[in-house]
Amino acid sequence: MGETRIGVFVCHCGTNIGAYVDVPQVVEYVRGLPNVVHAECNLFTCSEEGISAIKKAIAEYNLNRVVVASCTPRTHEPLFRAACEEAGLNKYLFEFVNIRDQCSWVHMREPEKATEKAKDLVRMGIAKASLLEPLEEVEVQVTPSALVIGGGVVGMNAALNLAEQGLEVQLVEKEKQLGGILLHVHKLFTTDEEASKLVGSLVQKVKNHSQIKTYLSTKVKSVSGFMGNFDATLDQNGKESNVKVGTIIVAIGAEELKPAGQYGYGKLPNVVTQLELEQRMKRGGLGGQNVVIINCVGARVPERTYCSGFCCMTAVKNATLIKQSSPEARVWVLHRDLMAYGVEFEDYYRKSMEQGVRFIRYGLEKPPEIMGDGKAEKVKVWHQLRGREVELPADMVVLTTPLVPRGDNEEISKMLKVPLSEQGFFLEAHLKLMPIEFATDGIYICGSARWPTDIAGGISQAYAAAAKAAIPMRTGYVKPEAITALVDEDICSGCGTCEPLCPFKAIELQARNGKKVSHVAEAVCKGCGTCGAACPSEAITMNHFRDVEILAQIEALFS
Ligand SMILES: Cc1cc2nc3c(=O)[nH]c(=O)nc-3n(C[C@H](O)[C@H](O)[C@H](O)COP(=O)(O)OP(=O)(O)OC[C@H]3O[C@@H](n4cnc5c(N)ncnc54)[C@H](O)[C@@H]3O)c2cc1C
Repeated sequence: MGETRIGVFVCHCGTNIGAYVDVPQVVEYVRGLPNVVHAECNLFTCSEEGISAIKKAIAEYNLNRVVVASCTPRTHEPLFRAACEEAGLNKYLFEFVNIRDQCSWVHMREPEKATEKAKDLVRMGIAKASLLEPLEEVEVQVTPSALVIGGGVVGMNAALNLAEQGLEVQLVEKEKQLGGILLHVHKLFTTDEEASKLVGSLVQKVKNHSQIKTYLSTKVKSVSGFMGNFDATLDQNGKESNVKVGTIIVAIGAEELKPAGQYGYGKLPNVVTQLELEQRMKRGGLGGQNVVIINCVGARVPERTYCSGFCCMTAVKNATLIKQSSPEARVWVLHRDLMAYGVEFEDYYRKSMEQGVRFIRYGLEKPPEIMGDGKAEKVKVWHQLRGREVELPADMVVLTTPLVPRGDNEEISKMLKVPLSEQGFFLEAHLKLMPIEFATDGIYICGSARWPTDIAGGISQAYAAAAKAAIPMRTGYVKPEAITALVDEDICSGCGTCEPLCPFKAIELQARNGKKVSHVAEAVCKGCGTCGAACPSEAITMNHFRDVEILAQIEALFS
């Protein structure tokens, strides 16, 4: 490639870096380093001005390596790489140095030391950049068909959205019917529309859509392959079939917690959960009754600290519906905090109070108590506002419980090699930057399988997941990152150490000229480096993180 010509761009990131690191001093310093032919600072290197400066400098100084010292590669690496590519430079000849998260932000009270550390970090980046090699990405064809697992309101919306774009969808539902939890729900907040109306119209649209093939009473037995080329085996009551798909959307929902043993649930016949109440209301009114609803049962407690979000509105909805159908009924909602967020929910809550529903706040230190013989007859609760205990007559006690992960989560997580959160829900790649994607390319997550959500939130996620999945399927191909592991088959001893270590199942032993060697599926490999670090024969090279590049960085640190 001839002479190495590096351009360095040091970003102020407004005051994020500039207020603590002496950016002009860093620029002055790097100008004297080997192979650096151009260095400048920018207020925001990611701005249009900053990007043009990079492209201009590549042409003007004939740069063949670019180093940007700024914020984080998580958000900005693609942007700077694209700038290099647009200026005709292979994007893998770009090196990112993070002088914000690990420098200015953590050394705000020591600006001089922060500046010295920034110089060290940039010097290391330049040393690595000097040795970078151009890499080429392989093109992988994408089958224009998606597998949607779960036929609840969210899975059906994702399927319809993809089908409307002309893409084929294989919709797999383990039950005999599409609809999920909503099949058992009476009416929906805040419109009080019948849940069956929404489900019915969605099921009709799914059934009538020529692009959607629905498999009822079916589970996905196994999945192999990678983004663009997944092979799934479906099991429909013992009958197996195979489908080839380009992408997978997980929408298997969650289930209502059954709070066995709490407040007499399971023992007292008139203590029920919200979903059981919904089913009774679906069958007909409750008559003039005294109903006590207890919120946050099994939620926001030490063993399950999260809030399901929508259950307060479910309690408000059902309390109001009882009052509407039997104005003589007396209904109390015992709550810890009432989550009536947004523009509609607060009004819905206010109207509920106007219609005579009584709300009483309780604390965890004095939870409500059920009194009665063989059935609940009264609920005793410490009324925080009145500062005394009150006894409420109860013909029925309704427990508002959170959504909890389905038992299937573990099995599907292992099958698709995607992670679960601490609570057992599916874990997205990044809460803010990749909220409906898994780290494994081509697999997406939406609805209450990801986190308890109401219908509106679930549908937004369904559309987002469908939109993301549609991009590679409509483009017809993807170009996975070229930063992958590379096996030297002559050196590989076929010991197999790497195979079980790979978190993405990208490596397998294959037969070559009478011996076994490791083979890396480039489209699956994420370049994490686990195999390279473990290989006893040093047969695995990590593209873009070769030993020489890392060693050069270390040497630069101590030089
Ligand atoms: C009592 C109660 C009342 C509610 N009331 C309201 C309301 O009024 N308004 C509102 O906005 N929200 C309400 N919700 C929340 C609402 O139910 C959820 O937002 C919605 O169900 C989420 O849809 P989903 O498709 O993600 O999940 P689900 O409805 O759980 O559907 C998931 C589907 O996946 C299927 N599945 C599971 N595992 C597999 C597998 N391994 N393979 C294939 N298929 C599988 C399930 O059988 C199911 O059909 C209520 C919830 C409860 C519990």
